[in-house]
Amino acid sequence: MENVIFIAPPAAGKGTLSQMLSERYAYKHISTGDILREEVNSGSNLGLKIKDIMASGKLVSDEIVIELISSTLNNLGETFFILDGFPRTLKQAQALTEILAKKDIKYKVIYLDISEELAKKRILGRRVCSCGRVYNIYSKALKPLQEGICDACGQKLITRSDDNEESFKIRFHESLKNNKPLLDYYQKLNNLNIIKISDDKDAIFAKILEVIKND
Ligand code: ADP
Repeated sequence: MENVIFIAPPAAGKGTLSQMLSERYAYKHISTGDILREEVNSGSNLGLKIKDIMASGKLVSDEIVIELISSTLNNLGETFFILDGFPRTLKQAQALTEILAKKDIKYKVIYLDISEELAKKRILGRRVCSCGRVYNIYSKALKPLQEGICDACGQKLITRSDDNEESFKIRFHESLKNNKPLLDYYQKLNNLNIIKISDDKDAIFAKILEVIKND
């Protein structure tokens, strides 16, 4: 097996696939979003510094994120890992290459290539319940049994306020634009594995296994 770096537009299924890898192969899921939120919640000096930046949706500085990831990777031991949300900039990618090369750690970069149409369907069809359950009205497997009602607790389902068409479009195109230099970078390093996303979760997982089992 090899370590994994996921790059993906919104709704590509990065979270679900990371969870599948963690459950079945004991991968450690390292999400910079989670690490940064923990730092904010801890109330540390660093947390105070990044709180407003995160709330505004802007990126935290490369320097801070690289330092946090570097120390996370240094304390990891022998566990295989998935990087989710890092690198996000070319500078972060270059720093990561250096960190991993020093430790002689191998990894595969996987881009989850989802069409705008499918991503839109996933985002606009998403309904959530305050109990934490998530549904999708456009998916047979994820539809609630009764329209608009949570199967688990019977409460009314709602649409998240950022799950609207306008906001989706902006997020999707921003992400394509921001990912482009990263994809070019890993292409040049000959470490870019593109997986076309469909609704067949198991088929996609199998393709990911093919990539990370092959050296
Ligand atoms: P989202 O996918 O909505 O951006 P994340 O949980 O990945 O959610 O990240 C939440 C916030 O954390 C981002 O908006 C950004 O402020 C910060 N962040 C996460 N990863 C990085 C990174 N690699 N570089 C800079 N900032 C980051």
